[in-house]
Amino acid sequence: MGIIICQSCDNTISHVEHEKVTTLYGKCPDCNSKHDKNQK
Ligand SMILES: [Zn+2]
Repeated sequence: MGIIICQSCDNTISHVEHEKVTTLYGKCPDCNSKHDKNQK
């Protein structure tokens, strides 16, 4: 199972069961909608 991590806020976005054990980088919906780097 792979995981997708947001490259902006380092949050785990989702898991990918179909993939091998790997780490992918993307953007979570929060970072996609907001250009601000507000981090809770
Ligand atoms: Zn994010």
